[in-house]
Amino acid sequence: MKALTLAATGGIEHLRVQELPQPSLQSPTDVIVRVQAAALNRLDLFVATGLPGSSLSFPHIVGSDGAGVVHETGAGVSQLRPGDRVMINPTISCGSCPACADEEDSLCSSLRVLGEHRSGTVAEYVVVPARNLATVPARMSPAQAAAFSLATLTAWRMLTTRARVVAGETVLIWGIGGGVAIAALQIARLLGARTIVTSGADEKLEIGRRLGADLLLNHQKADVRAEVRKYTEGLGADVVVDSIGERTWTDSLRSLRRGGRMVICGATTGPMVSMDLRRLFWHGWSILGSTLGNHREYGEIVAHAAEGRLWPVIDRIVPLHQAPAAYERLLRGEQAGKLVIEVAP
Ligand SMILES: [Zn+2]
Repeated sequence: MKALTLAATGGIEHLRVQELPQPSLQSPTDVIVRVQAAALNRLDLFVATGLPGSSLSFPHIVGSDGAGVVHETGAGVSQLRPGDRVMINPTISCGSCPACADEEDSLCSSLRVLGEHRSGTVAEYVVVPARNLATVPARMSPAQAAAFSLATLTAWRMLTTRARVVAGETVLIWGIGGGVAIAALQIARLLGARTIVTSGADEKLEIGRRLGADLLLNHQKADVRAEVRKYTEGLGADVVVDSIGERTWTDSLRSLRRGGRMVICGATTGPMVSMDLRRLFWHGWSILGSTLGNHREYGEIVAHAAEGRLWPVIDRIVPLHQAPAAYERLLRGEQAGKLVIEVAP
C-alpha cells in the first residue's frame, strides 16, 4: 500500500510517500479501514519534529485524522461491516485503567494517539480499534469526515467538559484559521455564548464572520485586550480559548474577567510563560489544560455533525503525492481551515 512516512524525526524534510506492506488485524476488536482521506493537525508537525520521550520505529506512518470504509473486521466486532463508511477518533485509550473508568480517556495511563504513538492515517489502510470508529453522517464527504475528528473533539472537550461554557457568556478565541479555533467558534455559538475571534489575516477572519462570530479582531492591528474590555463593558471575557502559547499568554490573561477561565490545548508559538500569582488568586482565574476527548464526547460531536450543527472548514484538498507541500503550508501557518490529503478516493 502507499503511505506517507517519516524516515526519521527532525523535520518535515524526512517525509516521503512510499510502498509498505498492508497491515493486518492485531486483535479481535480491531478493524482495518481503507482510508479515503486524511487530514493534518498541528500535532503532525510536532511528530515530524520529534516529541520529547517519543520512541517511533521508522518508517513511521503519519496522520491522526482519517475517514474511509471498513475493509476487514476482527472476529469480536459485530457493530461494523465491510463497506461501512467510518471516521476515526484518534484517541486510543486502554478502557480499563482508573482514568478510563472515570471517562477520562485522554488521561489514560497508556494513551496512544494514532499517528503519534502508532501507525497513522495517511496510508491506504490503517488498523483501529472498533470503538474508535463512528459512522460518517450521510451528507458528509470523506474529506469532511477526515477533517472533523481531532480538532472538533479537542474543542468540544475544552468548551464543554473543561470550561463549562454556558449561554450568555463571552468567549474569546485566538487564531481563527486553525481547526480547533474554528470548531471552538461553532461550539461556543451552539452553547449560546457571545464570541470574539482573532486572526492576523483578514481572509481568515472572513471564516469567523461566515460562521457568525460577534466580534472580529485582527490581532496585528487591534489592541485585543482593549477591544475585549470594550465589548464586555469593562469586565473581560468569561472564557479564553488559547492554543497559541507564548505570544498570546499576556493578552489572554489581560482579556479575562475576574473569575474567568482560560482553556489551553496547544502552544504553537512556544510553551514557556510566566505569571504574577497574586493576579491569579486575586482574580480567581482558572487555567485549564485540555487535550483530545473521551468516547462519550466523540459520540456527542458526531451526533451534532449528523444534524449539521458542527462542520469542518476545509482549506484545501491535495492528492497524496502533494502531502509534503500541505505540511509546508501548515508549517507556514497559511491555512484557513483544515488541510486534507486525498489518500485513495
Ligand atoms: Zn486507560
